[in-house]
Amino acid sequence: MTAAPTRAGTSAPAPDSASAYDFIIVGAGTAGCLLANRLSADPSCRVLLLEAGGPDHYPWIHIPVGYLYCIGNPRTDWLYFTEPEAGLNGRSLRYPRGRTLGGCSSINGMIYMRGQARDYDGWGRGDGHGPNPGWDWPACRDAFLAHEDHHGGASEHHAAPGFDRHGRRAGGEWRVERQRLRWDILDAFAQAAVQAGIPATTDFNRGDNEGVGYFEVNQRAGVRWNASKAFLRPARARPNLEVRTQASVLRLRLGRGSDGQLRAEGVQLQGGGGSGGGAADVLRLRPGGEVLLAAGAVASPALLQRSGIGEPALLQGLGIDVQLALPGVGENLQDHLQIRAVFRVSGARTLNTLAASLWGKARIGLEYAVSRSGPMSMAPSQLGAFTRSDPDRAWPNLQYHVQPLSLDAFGEPLHGFEAFTASVCNLNPSSRGSVRIRSPRGEDAPAIAPRYLSTDEDRHIAAQSLRLTRRIAAQPALAPYAPVEYKPGPQFQTDEELARLAGDIGTTIFHPVGTAKMGPQADPMAVVDARLRVHGVAGLRVVDASVMPTITSGNTNSPTLMIAERAAAWIAQARRSA
Ligand SMILES: Cc1cc2nc3c(=O)[nH]c(=O)nc-3n(C[C@H](O)[C@H](O)[C@H](O)COP(=O)(O)OP(=O)(O)OC[C@H]3O[C@@H](n4cnc5c(N)ncnc54)[C@H](O)[C@@H]3O)c2cc1C
Repeated sequence: MTAAPTRAGTSAPAPDSASAYDFIIVGAGTAGCLLANRLSADPSCRVLLLEAGGPDHYPWIHIPVGYLYCIGNPRTDWLYFTEPEAGLNGRSLRYPRGRTLGGCSSINGMIYMRGQARDYDGWGRGDGHGPNPGWDWPACRDAFLAHEDHHGGASEHHAAPGFDRHGRRAGGEWRVERQRLRWDILDAFAQAAVQAGIPATTDFNRGDNEGVGYFEVNQRAGVRWNASKAFLRPARARPNLEVRTQASVLRLRLGRGSDGQLRAEGVQLQGGGGSGGGAADVLRLRPGGEVLLAAGAVASPALLQRSGIGEPALLQGLGIDVQLALPGVGENLQDHLQIRAVFRVSGARTLNTLAASLWGKARIGLEYAVSRSGPMSMAPSQLGAFTRSDPDRAWPNLQYHVQPLSLDAFGEPLHGFEAFTASVCNLNPSSRGSVRIRSPRGEDAPAIAPRYLSTDEDRHIAAQSLRLTRRIAAQPALAPYAPVEYKPGPQFQTDEELARLAGDIGTTIFHPVGTAKMGPQADPMAVVDARLRVHGVAGLRVVDASVMPTITSGNTNSPTLMIAERAAAWIAQARRSA
């Protein structure tokens, strides 16, 4: 083997075609599993999928309520925390990220939500930062449909495997089902929301999600349906797909082409090769191959930064050679802050007391064992609503997740009294945060600073949303349960008080995005172009939640799958025409 110089000044063996790959996918999460499936469908491509976590065998991944045991568990979670947040009155939040096959789709709330048509039209326009050609609702809608397996079968808004009315193959692997239980207290909340002016809906996924109703979930017969089951397992037997677990990528291997252009040549693993491979810690691309970063909105920017791609001052301060100045890497972090108002109720059954006794737990376990239903089949939030923080808003900018339970914080025990939680988030926050590495070492967690409630607008909307929650709770439909506001407390009334209290009871709803945002070269903060290629580096794309220029108006898992579906189609097309 000959030695080829790399930009980082090290020497590495030149790729020999037998041991090199056409595609190296970093991260087997939501996006990575779909990419692995689609790209390995071409038997002439050699695809490697690398996952830092282990296989998704842990039983609590699959039992829906088990997400409570996956968060904060080193077997399935990266165990990140945010920096102390000024907007949250100095609190630092647990910041769960899935670390196993399926990534966050293995530990998430399973809500199937596409967002609003206007989100994707906005990405296409670029909203002041230059357009992203090819991004609009019709194109994104087609990509959602390409992998959907909807319980209702194919219809105007949904797809299922089989053939569409034009005789084309339609639908796919991503199972969407109705939930298998309902609660009187949630039905009453839904009715109260209607009385407060929010229309009832049975489908949040038609492009305009305004309304109140039960969420649909990614489950099959009461069991979690994660990206690993949907996309990876059907492809695992393909001889051209290699999957390594316990394989953490430390940094990219970069070099310069004969034209002087920076290009990805492979990846370097953190200590050893992970399962399923040898001990080699450098994995290389074949000529014309690509590294696809799908490590998620925290790890993908951190990996770029460790590789010398990012804001020069940050990298130099940590002793990292700057390969490429891309100041947008790790910036533009957006997340939904859920403001969790709790109401004590009387005369209603809630999980707080149902799960309190040994007998209650046994009944719940039996119900799940017999019929895969009941509270163990429960997505953490069953009922949802999308509405406007004030009637003059042009579109719904708030989302409710309503739960028949209450607790002081995730990881704490349920309250000992009957209660429901009406969690509300601002779907279009103007606060922007960052993910920045603290050292070049892969094992050091990056500094995650979402900067929640750091704008006047976000604080004002937080106060308005708490007032709206009170208005819904005061409607006649809930009167039989005599709701009493437990948190934040009815004594707090002014905008200033409510915004401060929102900082006390607010927490992440787990939707970090935007840290390697898509945008044209002319936008200095853009990291990838409209085809998700990293500006200034050949053979490198980011394909995960990081590329969203603005957060979608809803939960972010299925939008991330949609992004991966589109990227896979472009990558395959580029390969065909090469
Ligand atoms: C608790 C929770 C609840 C949520 N609830 C919902 C919900 O109900 N509905 C919804 O739509 N969305 C929900 N989300 C959000 C949604 O799941 C995420 O937006 C989505 O999964 C992000 O996908 P991704 O591909 O960008 O990243 P991920 O799914 O996080 O995948 C990244 C993968 O990369 C791996 N990785 C990271 N670093 C490295 C490295 N250096 N080397 C190798 N591998 C690496 C990780 O271990 C992980 O497997 C929730 C998220 C969480 C955490």
